Amino acid sequence: MTDILPFLKSLLSISGLSGFERPAAQLIEEKWRPLVDETSISRVGSLHGLKKGSGKEPRPSIMIATHMDAIGMRVSQLTDGFLHITNVGGIDIRVLPGMEVTVHASGSGEELPAVIAMPSARLLPESEANDAVAIKHLLVDTGLTPRDVEVKVRIGDLVSFANEPLELSGDVVSGHSVDNRGSVAALTVCLEELQNKSHRWDVWAVATVQEETSYLGAYSSAFQIRPQVAIVVDGTFAKGPGANGWQTFPMGKGVGLCIGPNMHPFLHEKLKEVAERTEIPWFLDVTPAHSGTDAYAIQTTFDGIPTALVEFPIRYMHTPVESVVVKDIQRAGRLLAEFIASLDEDFVNTIVWE
Ligand SMILES: [Zn+2]
Repeated sequence: MTDILPFLKSLLSISGLSGFERPAAQLIEEKWRPLVDETSISRVGSLHGLKKGSGKEPRPSIMIATHMDAIGMRVSQLTDGFLHITNVGGIDIRVLPGMEVTVHASGSGEELPAVIAMPSARLLPESEANDAVAIKHLLVDTGLTPRDVEVKVRIGDLVSFANEPLELSGDVVSGHSVDNRGSVAALTVCLEELQNKSHRWDVWAVATVQEETSYLGAYSSAFQIRPQVAIVVDGTFAKGPGANGWQTFPMGKGVGLCIGPNMHPFLHEKLKEVAERTEIPWFLDVTPAHSGTDAYAIQTTFDGIPTALVEFPIRYMHTPVESVVVKDIQRAGRLLAEFIASLDEDFVNTIVWE
């Protein structure tokens, strides 16, 4: 199996905030171009890669959706040369102070290095002095004079995490946007695996936009492609200090197969069969309601596209130090490829809800 680590690290080194995914799309397109027959960008910026199947036309198609957008921040106000920020997507604000960030300054077109700082505890309201500080009190410091900031930075400019991914021991990589660039890496593993496998169905590899904010990419790509079947890959909560044992899953122990209202039970069973047959370890994740992923959007498109959700555990979700075991990503990718290779032309007619 190819080593996905270098590509994963490059995915974790670029911005591409929700709604502004172009840097991520460019990097992914470059990687996918030799692995698929054609690539294109949707009207809202999602990346589509089509790998044609060997079956007779018209061929059924499967869409694998991985969101490429990242959470981050935006400038909400300028005060004496410092930037106030607000969040893009659901960010865990407790870990922001002290982070290195990049301000994408539209006034000058520069990428300004900066840090997130916090006023001294003595200057904060008493209620905030000892606990996590609300985002409205945090400041981004570029080091520039107030005058230069006024010229270079505009309200609304993006602020992305700048910390480089870090390889920890035990096959763990930590960085910003592991959710969900880890899934993009898994889909890339799948495409690489498919180079040596025959598959009858057309495969649409999709890196969606705006999952963290609106599901825009998932909805619009499902409409454009109208696949017979879809699989979404996303992160789930890993076990770790302070995490309860019943909503979390161990890292490095395999991939999650979800059941719940947004997942087609028949597809779930098939994925389970393939995982068992190919000896890919898996765990069951019961999602009681709306999955909070692209699976919701794709499944509720048209007459209800049969959709499954494959997951890998992430520690410290929605922080700049999200951590993952690389082997779980490889496993997710291999499972996707094995599943796709197992599809015969008639599969679509065998799908029943119950
Ligand atoms: Zn996600």
